[in-house]
Amino acid sequence: MALLSLTKLLLTKAPCYANNPANLKVTMRNLMSKQLVYAQFGDPLHVVKYRECAIPKLKSTEVLVRMLAAPVNPADINTIQGKYPVKVELPCIPGNEGVGIVEEVGGNVQNISKGNKVIVTKPVQGTWRDIATFDEDVLMVVPDNLGVVEAATLTVNPCTAYRMLTDFQPVKEKGLVVIQNGANSACGQNVIQICKSWGVKNINIVRNRPDIADLKKYLEDLGATYVLTEEEVRSTTIFKEKKIEKPSLALNCVGGKSSTEMLRHLQHSGKMVTYGGMSRDPVIIPTSAFIFKNVSFHGFWMTAWNEKANQADKEKMMKDIITLMCENKLKGPAHKLVKFDQYQEALGNALTTKGFIGCKYILDFSCTF
Ligand code: NDP
Repeated sequence: MALLSLTKLLLTKAPCYANNPANLKVTMRNLMSKQLVYAQFGDPLHVVKYRECAIPKLKSTEVLVRMLAAPVNPADINTIQGKYPVKVELPCIPGNEGVGIVEEVGGNVQNISKGNKVIVTKPVQGTWRDIATFDEDVLMVVPDNLGVVEAATLTVNPCTAYRMLTDFQPVKEKGLVVIQNGANSACGQNVIQICKSWGVKNINIVRNRPDIADLKKYLEDLGATYVLTEEEVRSTTIFKEKKIEKPSLALNCVGGKSSTEMLRHLQHSGKMVTYGGMSRDPVIIPTSAFIFKNVSFHGFWMTAWNEKANQADKEKMMKDIITLMCENKLKGPAHKLVKFDQYQEALGNALTTKGFIGCKYILDFSCTF
């Protein structure tokens, strides 16, 4: 009955089966899910629609989750646009990350119980809905005291930051310096906080803006050693004056001139890891970087890592990140919670190509249409 109090009795609506065609076989139950869906690729503001539809009866390995929050990430937008290299079947409920509370479990569910706080750990499960059924194996139970924003945004950016700081250079073990652009991105904020908790010095590049002093202070409070604008990074004397060692690891989510400038400061045999291309300009590498500096260039994609990684590495990463979060050493990104019925505000802001959004938009399901 508790679940019924969260939802409406189905009267006339048809069932929907997006993201889970197998549901066609099961009996419908009288529960309604409010959700976003798209049936064709294109401009998210046009192709993403709101609908209510029936929740089918739970299968034995499924879990019914009342969603609390789910972020709107650049990859979600690119997926809806049909520009992201992950295959989705249409119609599709968008959203790759999210957190919720378990309302009910199927008969063969082993490790999840009613009342657990859970996050969705695999992509393309469709998190932009208030009530959802997921297979047990795409969920992970997280501590009750983990913050909603931290939990909702855990699997993409904190994991990406953690891996990039772990898999390319021994920054923690050898105390190597890290430099990154797009440092105010959600991923960048995680890089800064993980560096701080690991004792790793970090140099952070952001674009100039009228409130640059506030942004610098925000990032310094998170643990940034230095925050420089893209103009300042060209003329900085911090290396000449030996205030800090040259970096051995550069993390690039911007591309274009920004990555070229960052590259100029890398140590001999340093590594640049590209994980995003927010400027939409290509990464340009001077020939001398290859020949005289022996710099190497790498790409990183969290989705690909997750597909190949062994369970032990995944568990260690999740445990380390959740521990940092529960110890308040790793907080969620600067964000704006947007009521689910105002989803177009979140989509519209996340769509802009010029940037300067200032925060991560997170859908908040604690509202009714
Ligand atoms: P956010 O929306 O939190 O941050 C976006 C960042 O991009 C901000 O720093 C913003 O800076 C900058 N930016 C936006 N537009 C431009 C522009 N035109 N030129 C230069 N900088 C710009 O994003 P996330 O942290 O969620 O993601 C950041 C990037 O990392 C994305 O490209 C995303 O796809 C990628 N990513 C990749 C992963 C992977 O596995 N490879 C995993 C996670 C993220 P400003 O405030 O100056 O606009």
